[in-house]
Amino acid sequence: MELNKDKIIENYSKIENDIKKYSPYPEKVKILFVTKYFDIEEHQKIVNMGFNYFGENKAQLFRDKIKTIDNPELRWDFIGRLQKNKIKYIIKRVNLIHSIDTISLLEEVNEKACEIGRKVDVLIQVNVSHEETKTGFHVSELSDVFKVRADNINIRGLMTMAPLTDDESELRKYFRETFEVKNDINKKYNLNLDELSMGMSNDYKEALMEGATIVRIGSKLFE
Ligand SMILES: *Cc1c(COP(=O)(O)O)cnc(C)c1O
Repeated sequence: MELNKDKIIENYSKIENDIKKYSPYPEKVKILFVTKYFDIEEHQKIVNMGFNYFGENKAQLFRDKIKTIDNPELRWDFIGRLQKNKIKYIIKRVNLIHSIDTISLLEEVNEKACEIGRKVDVLIQVNVSHEETKTGFHVSELSDVFKVRADNINIRGLMTMAPLTDDESELRKYFRETFEVKNDINKKYNLNLDELSMGMSNDYKEALMEGATIVRIGSKLFE
């Protein structure tokens, strides 16, 4: 893939400006650079450009990249479907797992974190539209999630993927519902979840308007 540094930096600052323009709390919002499209060599170039907060969706590539291009300034999030037998590839180094979508995965991540004596930050993936094709917990299932005892897990918030549509009001409604689910959980369980990972290249503006704190951006940065 051709990587144009000027273009990437220009696109990144456009998103920074959109954060100021659309978010109710721009100071809280982080841009997760989704680097799943890049091999190790390309990713190294992105590190050299000064970017340091990355999202990967394949455990093996995550493992291979942290072996070769890691440094202490980098933060690595995991955003994809996580198979239990691959938790070991990411558990030592992952900064935040966005994609906890079953209780058994939550328990298994807890166990692996316990084995290496660390506490791992995670997000619970929710699906407020009840589309069968999307992964994530339905709202009615969340009470079971917050009953789980997992001492080596720190639930920081929620993640969601909106349905594929260009309809701005539909997107905003979906993100607003997710925001409200987070507030409801905080009230009901007396928690303090503060992160909302929502919005990708084609819907991050709507997500920002509705309170996203992490936008996960890939293609928009290098188009
Ligand atoms: C690929 C991916 C993104 C980024 O998608 P773009 O459309 O390239 O911005 C965000 N979130 C998840 C979970 C992804 O898999």
